[in-house]
Amino acid sequence: MKNILITGGAGFIGSHLCREHLEKGDRVLCLDNFFTGKHENIENLRNHPKFEVIRHDITEPIRLEVDQIYNLACPASPIHYQYNPIKTMKTSVLGAINMLGLAKRTKARILQASTSEVYGDPELHPQKESYHGKVNITGIRSCYDEGKRASETLCFDYNRIHNTDIRVVRIFNTYGPNMDIGDGRVVSNFIVQALQNEDITIYGDGNQTRSFCYVDDMVRGLMDFMNHPDFIGPMNLGNDGEFTIKELAEEVIRQTGSSSKIVYHDLPSDDPTRRRPDLTVAREKIGYKTPVTLEEGLKKTIPYYRKVLGL
Ligand code: NAD
Ligand code: UDP
Repeated sequence: MKNILITGGAGFIGSHLCREHLEKGDRVLCLDNFFTGKHENIENLRNHPKFEVIRHDITEPIRLEVDQIYNLACPASPIHYQYNPIKTMKTSVLGAINMLGLAKRTKARILQASTSEVYGDPELHPQKESYHGKVNITGIRSCYDEGKRASETLCFDYNRIHNTDIRVVRIFNTYGPNMDIGDGRVVSNFIVQALQNEDITIYGDGNQTRSFCYVDDMVRGLMDFMNHPDFIGPMNLGNDGEFTIKELAEEVIRQTGSSSKIVYHDLPSDDPTRRRPDLTVAREKIGYKTPVTLEEGLKKTIPYYRKVLGL
């Protein structure tokens, strides 16, 4: 049994990770400031004897005794990370410093949740970990992109200077139950709109691509990477199927049987044109597999939103 700290544990990915670690028999400390996290996400874990919730903001130091840390705390949806961009940067940088400091003191292993956004609007396709990215330094996405890039730098410097046991993962677009109905990311937006027969809002012409990973495949990858004996990363995790946003909209409409119409809005600035992970490293190091296709993953996700919307 290990003591696992999951920052951002009440959020979308974090809540699944909390559940999986409890099922394995670990003790889970779920730390969250509830900015985008929800009590409902962890409601069914509350009575578990090995589960504890700590309301805390990772921009402030904290003293805990733990064996492993997943540092997931950070708003991940553009509307939420742009709401207070300075806070997003503080969470990414000061939060990483505080969690790396905790890892250093306790000799815990720390897995830092980085993002495909570190590649910016990539010129290399698919994106390999060795690619350094094309990121706007001063744009509206920069607080998140550059914040996450700095968090990676901090991890590698803590590793070089203090021998801190790090794992750096670059997460590509992940979706599934527990992503908030108001999250603002594309999969939840489209499903919520389709279920209510409202217009489906495509930003731009819908030809931009993303690769969508079902949350169970992501969580398994995160846990396997955390338990790899020595590879510190960076490692891409996601699904390497690539779809246009228009294709996603059409599939959501098909699966929900919705009468929604597609409407086109302006594309936000710095919105990446193409994105797909090269998963060679993950396959070699942790035997990573993504059995859940987009079609199957949407089928598993739509009932969650039906329930939340009371439909
Ligand atoms: P989410 O918004 O659902 O979860 C983030 C959680 O962090 C929330 O519970 C929020 O309340 C908490 N949080 C935010 N700032 C905090 C702070 N200062 N102190 C304590 N808690 C704080 O998002 P998610 O999709 O679950 O993302 C989890 C992590 O994975 C994030 O670090 C994100 O950057 C990364 N990631 C996610 C995706 C994805 O597609 N889901 C892609 C790339 C990276
Ligand atoms: N998008 C869209 N309609 C929406 C929400 C998002 O067309 O209602 C687009 C967005 O412009 C981007 C893609 O879908 O091109 C993925 O957006 P998301 O915010 O989910 O994640 P990103 O990969 O951009 O961080």
